[in-house]
Amino acid sequence: GLLIDGEARPTVFARMSAKAAETGALNLGQGFPDDAPPAVVADAAVAAIRAGQNQYPPGLGESVLREAIAEHQSQWYGLRWDPASEVLVTTGATEALAATILALVEPGDEVVTLEPFYDQYAAIIALAGGVHRTVPITSRTGDDGDLVLDVAEADLRAAFSDRTRLVLVNTPHNPTGLMLWVGALQAIVDEAAAHDAIIVTDEVYEHLTFGPAHLPIATLPGAKDRTVSISSAGKTFSVTGWKIGWITARPELITAIMSLKQWLTYSSGAPFQPAVAAGLTMPTSAFHDLAQDLRERRDLLTDGLRSIGFRVSVPEAGYFAVADAAPFGETDAADLCERLPGEAGVVGIPLSAFYRDGQAGEASSYLRLAFCKSRATIEQSLERLETWA
Ligand code: PMP
Ligand code: GLN
Repeated sequence: GLLIDGEARPTVFARMSAKAAETGALNLGQGFPDDAPPAVVADAAVAAIRAGQNQYPPGLGESVLREAIAEHQSQWYGLRWDPASEVLVTTGATEALAATILALVEPGDEVVTLEPFYDQYAAIIALAGGVHRTVPITSRTGDDGDLVLDVAEADLRAAFSDRTRLVLVNTPHNPTGLMLWVGALQAIVDEAAAHDAIIVTDEVYEHLTFGPAHLPIATLPGAKDRTVSISSAGKTFSVTGWKIGWITARPELITAIMSLKQWLTYSSGAPFQPAVAAGLTMPTSAFHDLAQDLRERRDLLTDGLRSIGFRVSVPEAGYFAVADAAPFGETDAADLCERLPGEAGVVGIPLSAFYRDGQAGEASSYLRLAFCKSRATIEQSLERLETWA
């Protein structure tokens, strides 16, 4: 019954992208990049198709990709996984999240996430019959007048109970670009251990960091055996339409999740698997170049928004900046985002789309704006917003 109510309800991203297409507005809404994938990655996909790699791959994923995933986790984070039993390839992080939650959560189990959260989390927790508990990301004005977002360790600890089955971590975080640091991560590991809960971590923005490098929760003492780590190729290689993701976890968890995944998709995009393997084995400098390029576009957008008069949060990672429209008397960003394509020719996403209904509170006047777009698109969007303001 959850989704069968006779009414089509596209996600906020699909709806706002359709609005951009309809109105010709510049799309700073849905998080997909204007960038082309690295040539080695694109060429490897074409070569795989030409070489006939077009039929069902193994359910766990092609061994060349599983080995590349294990090697990547070892090289970047010092995490050792057996490619034969501890790595599972999925149809994007989206399927990884769905299969993991559906496999591990029983009706009535509590699942803890941050709030705001990536919208899929609430939908899948509901499909599993889970009870969604949230930890607020708080905001305040910093000394420089910027918006500062944070999460308190005490709030993280308070979200756990005897019914907690799973804690779903997302770092770097969508929609805020926040990265969770060792104190917060260790608090999650401690509480998960105390309540015998499983940690699921969504790290799809792991390589899009602008300051310190990403810190995977699985590297913390006591975490690895109870953690399901999820990532995907979409962001790292600018291929969000390829839908190749992966999971690393101990064998019993992989088996449980694979049992579910086999009924969802059975297997995932054959020719894209060797291409993603080629990407994961690129020299580290190639990863840094993409992040550096994105960092410049982050600065372009956040500096521009600030000078127009928005209160902005400068993210440490990811695709998105958060801007507060309250300085313009706009207290309801959901309403503003409906009007903005017509009034300004720009599409953004209201931050309230990432909260449970009615829970956005002080974030009701915040918008999420994507900077994974071309410089020209960002510059033109800023000119349009300046005129609008
Ligand atoms: N998790 C987060 C936090 C995301 O922002 C997204 C969207 N790109 C996904 C998961 C889904 O990833 P994928 O495209 O690999 O399915
Ligand atoms: N992750 C993308 C975003 O946050 C959207 C992906 C989707 O449309 N499902 O914009």
